[in-house]
Amino acid sequence: LVAVESLAKAFGDHVVLRDISFDVAEGTVTTIIGPSGSGKTTVLRSLNALEIPDAGVVRIGDCTVDFSTIKPGHRGRLPKADRQLLATYRAKSGMVFQSHNLFPHKTTIENVTEGPVVTQGISKEEARTAAAALLEQVGLSEHADKYPYQLSGGQQQRVGIARALALKPSLVLFDEPTSALDPELVGDVLGVIKDLAAEGWTMVIVTHEVRFAQQVSNQVLFVDGGLIVERGGSEVITDPQEPRTQTFLKRIL
Ligand code: ATP
Repeated sequence: LVAVESLAKAFGDHVVLRDISFDVAEGTVTTIIGPSGSGKTTVLRSLNALEIPDAGVVRIGDCTVDFSTIKPGHRGRLPKADRQLLATYRAKSGMVFQSHNLFPHKTTIENVTEGPVVTQGISKEEARTAAAALLEQVGLSEHADKYPYQLSGGQQQRVGIARALALKPSLVLFDEPTSALDPELVGDVLGVIKDLAAEGWTMVIVTHEVRFAQQVSNQVLFVDGGLIVERGGSEVITDPQEPRTQTFLKRIL
C-alpha cells in the first residue's frame, strides 16, 4: 500500500532524515521506534505532508509524490499543481496526534462528523450513523454528547482516533498516541489500536511503548540518526541484531 524511497530532510544544517526507505503492506501495522530526536516523528509527518521532505518519493495507494520536485516558488508558496497533489496525498492518511486537538466547543459525535461533512460533502445523517458506529468501536457510545472537557485524556484520545477513521483513510498514522496519557489510561488506547489492527486497518505508529510495539507490529523499524538501522518483525525488539538497537533497548527495558 505504501512505498517510501530515500526520504531526506534537513532543518537548516541539521540533517534529520538521511535516507529512509520502507514499504507498508495493506492491513499491517508498522511501528517506528528509536531514541529521542532520531527522526521518527519527521518520518510520520512526511507521510501526511505535514513535513515536506527535501527529497524522496512516497507512494500511498494510487498517489505518488516525488518530493524533490516540490519546491516553494515565489514568497515560499507552492505552485497550484503541487498544492493539489499534496491535498490528494494528505487525504490518503489520517493522523492521530499526541494531544488530542479536539474542537472544544463541539461534542464527541460532532467532533467525529465534522470532517466527513465539511471536507467530503457527506450528509449529516449519514455522517452521524457512521460516527455512532465508530464511537461504539472505540468504546465511547455513552459519551457521544459530552464535550471534550468532560472526558478523560484516554477518552479524548479515543475520540481523536474515531475522528481520524471517520474520513476512511487508506492509512492511519499515530504520533506517540499514549505519551500524553496517565499510565492507567494507556492500556485503553492500546486496546483500541489492537482492535483496529485485528480489523485490518493499515497503521504506522511512532511509539515509545516497545512492549506494545512488540505485541501489535507486523513490522518494526528501529530508527537512529535519520536512518533505519534495523527492521523486521517483533524480533527486532525481542532479539535485536544491531548493536545500536541492543543498546537502545537495554536502556529502556
Ligand atoms: P522524539 O522521540 O523526541 O519525539 P523523534 O525521533 O520523533 O523524537 P523528530 O521529532 O523527528 O524526532 O525530530 C528529529 C530532530 O529534528 C530533532 O532534533 C528535532 O529537534 C528536529 N526538528 C524537528 N522538527 C523541527 C523543525 N520544525 N525545525 C527544526 N528542527 C526540527
